[in-house]
Amino acid sequence: MAGPASVRTLVVKIGSSSVTTEDGRVDTAAIDKLAGEVADARSAGHRVVVVTSGAITAGWAHLSEGRPRPSDLATLQAVAAVGQHLLMRVWSDALDRHGLVAGQVLLAPLDFVHRSQYLHARQTLGRLLELGVVPVVNENDAVADEEIRFGDNDRLAALVAHLVSAGLLVLLTDTAGLLTGDPRSEADASLIEEVLEIDHALEAIAGGPGTVAGSGGMGSKLAAAKIAVWSGIEAVIADAARPGVLASVTSGTPGVGTRFRPREVVLPARKLWIAFAIGASGSIVVDDGARRAVVERGRSLLPAGIVAVQGEFEAEDAVELIGPDGLVFAKGLVRHGAAHVGQWAGRRSEDLPDDMAAEVVHRDDLVVLG
Ligand code: GLU
Repeated sequence: MAGPASVRTLVVKIGSSSVTTEDGRVDTAAIDKLAGEVADARSAGHRVVVVTSGAITAGWAHLSEGRPRPSDLATLQAVAAVGQHLLMRVWSDALDRHGLVAGQVLLAPLDFVHRSQYLHARQTLGRLLELGVVPVVNENDAVADEEIRFGDNDRLAALVAHLVSAGLLVLLTDTAGLLTGDPRSEADASLIEEVLEIDHALEAIAGGPGTVAGSGGMGSKLAAAKIAVWSGIEAVIADAARPGVLASVTSGTPGVGTRFRPREVVLPARKLWIAFAIGASGSIVVDDGARRAVVERGRSLLPAGIVAVQGEFEAEDAVELIGPDGLVFAKGLVRHGAAHVGQWAGRRSEDLPDDMAAEVVHRDDLVVLG
C-alpha cells in the first residue's frame, strides 16, 4: 500500500458550508484557496478529483431574495440547475488561475449500479485524469430521481474514490475532524486523530446532520469513510479552512483531521453500493442456522431460515438481515416482495412453487456487515 507521502489519486470532497458564504453565495475566496491547494497537490505529483457541494445553496441565494430555503425536492432540484453553473464557473476560474483545467462531471446513484454506466463513468474520469484535467464532480441534482438521490455528497465522493481507485479520500468540512462530542455543548470535546475500525460506538458519537447549508453532517461523513475503508482506501475528515490542509493531510502531518485506516479485505463496487449507498426498505429476521450459513459459508438466504418479515418491500429492494439476537448482520437485494417472503417463511425450498426462485436474497446480492 502507498505510504502517506507517495504519489496517488486523491478525491477531495468539499461541503456546501465550506464553499458558500453566510448568505449562501459561492465563496470565491474559499474556492480559490482550495484550488491553490489542489494545484500544489498536482505539483507534488498527485492526481486530484474534486467533489463539490454547494449548488443548491448557491442557486437559492441567487433566486430567493432573502426568502427561507424551500424544502420540497422539486424546487431544490430546479434550484440546483441554477446553482451548479454558478458554482462551476467559480471552480473553473479558480483552477484556471492556478494553471489547471476543470472538467465538470455530474453523477447520479444509478451510475454506480448499472455496470455499463459504471464502466463508462470510470473511463471518463480516468481519461480526464490522463489528460491532466481536474474533474469537478457533483451529484446530478437537477434530474436525479427523487427517490434515490444520494442527497449528500459524502457518499458520492466515497463511491467516486472507489471508481477512480483513489489512494485517499479527503472530506473537507467546517470542523477540525471527528470530535469526541458536540463542541457546541461540550467544551472539552477533542479531535479523534485516528480510527482503526468504525464501530457502533463511533457512529453514536457522529450523530446526525450538523449544519444548515450542508445536508451531510458527521453521520454521513462517517458513512462515507466506511465506504472508503471497506474499499481499501484511506479516508481523512479535516477542516477546509485550515491553511495548507491538503498538503498536511497528504503528507500525514499528525493532528490534522481524523484519519481512518483502510481495511485489508475490500468489497467490490456492487456490494459497496448494496451495503452503503441504498437505504433498506425493510428487514428479514432469520434463525441462527440461516445466519451462520450466510456469515460463515457465504450462502444465499433461503425461505427455510426465515422467521419473520418487517416492513414493506418489493422485489429488488434492499433489506437488512437480522439474527436471533436482534442485530443486523447483513444487507442485500431481495428477490421477492414482503408478502411473498412472509407467506413462504420457514418452508423448505422443495415445497416452493416451481416458478419461485428459492433464493430470497442471492449470495451475489448479499453483503455481510461488521
Ligand atoms: N449536491 C448538493 C449541492 O450541490 C449538495 C449535497 C450535500 O450537501 O452534500 O447542493
